[in-house]
Amino acid sequence: MCLKSRSNSSTLKYDPQEFEIVSSLLQLSTKYRVERLREDLLRGLSRVWPTTLQGWEFRESDATNGSGAYKPRSHYPHPMYVLSFSDSNTISYTQQSLIINLARQTDALELLPSAFYDLSRCSASEIATGYLPSKSTNRSDGHHLTDADLLCVLRGREQASRFLSTFIVAELESREPSPNCVYRSDPEAFRKRVCQAVFEATTFEVLRDVNGVVLHRSSDPLFALMDADMMQARTGAEGGRLNVLQRACEPCRMDLSASVDAEREAMWRKLPSWFGLDVPGWP
Ligand SMILES: [Zn+2]
Repeated sequence: MCLKSRSNSSTLKYDPQEFEIVSSLLQLSTKYRVERLREDLLRGLSRVWPTTLQGWEFRESDATNGSGAYKPRSHYPHPMYVLSFSDSNTISYTQQSLIINLARQTDALELLPSAFYDLSRCSASEIATGYLPSKSTNRSDGHHLTDADLLCVLRGREQASRFLSTFIVAELESREPSPNCVYRSDPEAFRKRVCQAVFEATTFEVLRDVNGVVLHRSSDPLFALMDADMMQARTGAEGGRLNVLQRACEPCRMDLSASVDAEREAMWRKLPSWFGLDVPGWP
């Protein structure tokens, strides 16, 4: 990470290899109250660990390559030691446990909810194992969450999972067609329940992915919710998992889309409480 002068302001560019430098600068600027530098550093860090859902969308978009493939950390051979820095937007969970410690030390609490959520997408064992710097083979050099933070991230992980389960049951599994569904008055019984059948197929696809079968994003409810909506817009040729015959009519799709947006916003607002954080001003 480095400071770059751009126009009249300093901006921060993420570079995980320089994380320790940024960490030191943030600690020093906090200690000696160098506010401008501290603000610049925090602004840069907030692009990686944002405070808004919109910021999170940008972050996730940056981590998705041109063909639409996201690189889930579970694909890393061993993320503790194999830190992939080739893609500057690929963020290993190891930095997250560091950012959590750093945010605690420098009272940058606004970074914590998205950092905790990000980390919660890893397996419980990965989260508990912690981080060993790439140049070190001595386990005593490792960075770990405090016991309290480890408990918080595991509890939040469970809460997020429950939230997704509730959404599936309440908003997807038995979803009724929109009052404006184009098939609502269709004389053919089969066509009359086309959109319901689509919601059932969508439920199946979401559950398959929750189990890590399709996209290996097994603990990412924010993504799973969005995926339920995006499935309706994709065609098979574009890599979608529902074919053209399995797509809801436009009014039903728009209703589902509105539900998904509302649930994701609600979920984002809940992140601090799920992870046991008190973050003043959280959206
Ligand atoms: Zn419909």
